[in-house]
Amino acid sequence: MDLQDITQCLGKLVQGEIISQESMKKHTSWQVGGPADIMVLPSCIEDIRITRQFAVEQGLPLTVMGNGSNMLVRDGGIRGIVLKISRGFNEIKVKGTVITAEAGALIPNVSVRAARAGLTGMEFAAGIPASVGGAVAMNAGAHGKSMADIVLRVAALTGDGNDILLGKEDIGFNYRKSCIASKNFVILTADFDLKRGEPEEIMSANKINLEKRRRSQPLEYPTAGSVFANPPGQWAGWLIENAGCKGMRIGDAMVSEKHANFIVNLGMAKAEDILELITRIKNLVMQKYNVELELEIRVAGE
Ligand SMILES: Cc1cc2nc3c(=O)[nH]c(=O)nc-3n(C[C@H](O)[C@H](O)[C@H](O)COP(=O)(O)OP(=O)(O)OC[C@H]3O[C@@H](n4cnc5c(N)ncnc54)[C@H](O)[C@@H]3O)c2cc1C
Repeated sequence: MDLQDITQCLGKLVQGEIISQESMKKHTSWQVGGPADIMVLPSCIEDIRITRQFAVEQGLPLTVMGNGSNMLVRDGGIRGIVLKISRGFNEIKVKGTVITAEAGALIPNVSVRAARAGLTGMEFAAGIPASVGGAVAMNAGAHGKSMADIVLRVAALTGDGNDILLGKEDIGFNYRKSCIASKNFVILTADFDLKRGEPEEIMSANKINLEKRRRSQPLEYPTAGSVFANPPGQWAGWLIENAGCKGMRIGDAMVSEKHANFIVNLGMAKAEDILELITRIKNLVMQKYNVELELEIRVAGE
């Protein structure tokens, strides 16, 4: 089957949107990356199941993504199918002190819902531009807390297409990691276990956290957040700044002057520029501090 046949065939099977040759620049917060052969934007669980099954049957690679805020897609793009679980699959429900959110719901929206319902525990996540699926898979966190502190359970699809309910202990949460990627799970929904609190106090904590972000992060540029994970007991940003990397630039990719662990796209950056800058940063930090920085971002495509 060629791309047109696959698009037509999938179009008959799923309710959501299907786009061929879709530029990943439109779907990643860094605004870089070549085209995805085929992108599926599911509008229900069945769309996710069918797409996964279709990819297996046709022997096509499947890349799962959420809001694209932690992904660097190479300039050659992504072969096969990109399953972007986002706005079509984003319901949020509150029952008692538990919030259940579909994988495509945005964490800032879940956090506002929690505040309105007088539920505390999610304030740390207020400004993380993640989908629920991406946040759980990456164990996203800030201000000393992370998803591991609030996730109660997750409904997912296994690699062979079966449904699975994962308790917190089954998700293998670690610093900015979980076992979701290594086990090839697709997150469908997540339950967050929160506590009763005062809506106004929660809103105000959210605002303070958002303000801290505005002050410390270059939010005026396309970025993917922190590029490197903090090595144990150290701050990647401090190491990068003190290795003299702030302001270093390749093409339109530049180490932010505001936060050294962010690489900003000044307009026309290519994935290649960002990857070269990453190599230079790693070399300089290794030379000066003998520390091997590890990527927090996920690199995809060819
Ligand atoms: C301005 C800015 C600030 C940021 N601040 C923070 C911060 O404070 N703390 C922090 O931790 N991160 C931060 N990030 C990084 C990013 O927001 C997080 O890593 C987030 O968890 C990524 O979520 P996403 O939905 O965008 O995932 P994507 O980037 O789309 O994907 C990331 C990974 O998750 C997997 N994934 C996504 N959805 C699913 C799913 N449904 N099932 C299975 N796997 C899935 C993908 O396969 C991929 O491996 C920031 C990014 C930006 C741009």
